[in-house]
Amino acid sequence: MLSTGIYAGLGAVAGLGLATCGFAYASVWPGSRLFGEALVAPRRPGELALTFDDGPNPAWTPQLLDVLASHGVRATFFMLGKYAQAEPALVRRVAEAGHLIGSHSWSHPNLAIAAPGRVRQELVRTKEMLEQTTGVQIKYFRPPFGGRRPAVLRMARSLGMSPVLWNAMASDWSDPSADRITKRMMHSIDRLERRGWAANILLHDGGNLGLGVDRGPSVTAAGLLLSHYITTHRFVTVDAWS
Ligand SMILES: [Zn+2]
Repeated sequence: MLSTGIYAGLGAVAGLGLATCGFAYASVWPGSRLFGEALVAPRRPGELALTFDDGPNPAWTPQLLDVLASHGVRATFFMLGKYAQAEPALVRRVAEAGHLIGSHSWSHPNLAIAAPGRVRQELVRTKEMLEQTTGVQIKYFRPPFGGRRPAVLRMARSLGMSPVLWNAMASDWSDPSADRITKRMMHSIDRLERRGWAANILLHDGGNLGLGVDRGPSVTAAGLLLSHYITTHRFVTVDAWS
């Protein structure tokens, strides 16, 4: 029984059913219950999962790995298949540092409006690429843009991957100020904690529009969050919650 994980999802009726058998319900991510079941975060205040989307990015992922290593923290990386294909050594470096790697599709389409054949191709190709590159089974999937149509999440599960969303974000992909990103993120994390939830923190080490985008602010923000919370909180990878 997954009593420790929260699964945002299903319809309101199904959600009530889940709540009665020990699941916490998705009040932290109210929209998600309309779109199917996905892992967000459990009721474990004090636990934080740093997650990074849209990499690997040769311009910034290595610096991010150094920041994480300097704090002895493991994070979760939801990678794009097309970048993994271009940067296999960097993918291996992430895996060998002990981080959890998940799929973020091959090319970052909005899967909520993609044809079923396209969805399947995006998921299968990325899973195979990441598994061949790392030698590790890929068990987690985060839909691009949070596009969580039930059919998409069902397909991910049929391929052996649990869908993962998030409950803390700060528009780091568009804000050049690391301080602003960090402040907004701390506000979300602290609010979640007051309400009794762990934080599933969405940041970006890459960008869906091309390899090599500037993610300096995101990497700096990750370092500031680590410095702020490292002595009082436990950093986990999302597999700790499933
Ligand atoms: Zn993305």
